[in-house]
Amino acid sequence: MLVLVVNCGSSSLKYQVRELEPGAEGGTVLASGLIENIGGAAVRDHTQALELLAQRLEDELDGRTIDAAGHRVVHGGERFSVPALVDDGTIDAIEELSPLAPLHNPAAVLGLRAVLQKWPELPQVCVFDTAFHGTMPEHVWRYAVPEEFYERWGIRRYGFHGTSHDWVTGQAARFLGIPRPEFSCVVAHLGNGASVTAVRHGSSYDTSMGYTPLAGLVMGTRTGDLDPSVVTSLLRRDPAATPEGLDAVLNKESGLKAIAGDHDMRAVQEAADRGDERAELALAMAAYRLAKYVGGYHVAVDGAQALVFTAGIGENAVAFRKRVCDRLGALGVVLDDDANAARSRGIRRISAPESAIEVLVVPTDEEQAIASATAALVAAGSAGAPS
Ligand code: ADP
Repeated sequence: MLVLVVNCGSSSLKYQVRELEPGAEGGTVLASGLIENIGGAAVRDHTQALELLAQRLEDELDGRTIDAAGHRVVHGGERFSVPALVDDGTIDAIEELSPLAPLHNPAAVLGLRAVLQKWPELPQVCVFDTAFHGTMPEHVWRYAVPEEFYERWGIRRYGFHGTSHDWVTGQAARFLGIPRPEFSCVVAHLGNGASVTAVRHGSSYDTSMGYTPLAGLVMGTRTGDLDPSVVTSLLRRDPAATPEGLDAVLNKESGLKAIAGDHDMRAVQEAADRGDERAELALAMAAYRLAKYVGGYHVAVDGAQALVFTAGIGENAVAFRKRVCDRLGALGVVLDDDANAARSRGIRRISAPESAIEVLVVPTDEEQAIASATAALVAAGSAGAPS
């Protein structure tokens, strides 16, 4: 089956075509690319982006046609806790969730509608970033605020990066030879956006992002956890402060960027290596915050069997992994420095044999996860099984 994986932003469309067998993992990437500057002079809108994509695929796939499309959708709210086969109601439902993800869901809707318009008969599947966290218990997803906040405004912890956390958990369990329902771990997805998830018996139990992806870890440009009265206080005290302005500062001008002057982990690490004190402080803050979460989540899952690093920083930042693990001595974590420093693209163990908790690096592959989920759902649908 040829599956087109689509990740739509408001001005970009990232795509990949994979050939894979439903139910089987792996598969081959036949085409991939990025269409940028949608809304600009060359590519007017998502409909035109789809025309461009169709032309490219015709060349890149040698005339073969795709069998299904899988879309990355950021917010599935409480409605979508598993991937969904797209029908008339699905796109509207995703659009209705836009207030919860005002930057992301409208873009996904544009992508879904553009694919539907271009290939009306093509089965489409949505895979939601929030879905994996649908198993969090109520005492975890609730905020201690008046009921109206939840009932009227949908304010609760949702969590994000679920496709990655889910995928990486499965890979780690298999690598360790532990059946997933018996596997508990802490997964640190550390990219430009970063979150950590407590996985208990194979399912999400808690996660550091919350109502939005702003919560939790110190990220490239996001604050992570912050006393909410910082916001209300600034709105009162600073005549220039506005909700939109603060939103932009907390999401785009904070985190590593605010402390070290750069959002990129490589640049921050290089600056720290040269003796830059602000870069050193930023790394200390980010590592401390993550270590604190790992400690808390070790308790949340009744003892994690593994700590798993993934995404750009998790897979590559040797010094940052060491900084975090060195803080986890109280949990009995012992890193194997050589294994940690070894370069590899595969799944690997970086803890010493005597470590009380296995420490792994597991490359994430959200496209593969979306393609597999899409193929499985479409195969089940065409076999007449309930979708
Ligand atoms: P996104 O969330 O945008 O998908 P990625 O998962 O690609 O981001 O992660 C980007 C981050 O990974 C950046 O901070 C980048 O500096 C960091 N990174 C990538 N390679 C390395 C490396 N070799 N050493 C340290 N950090 C790295």
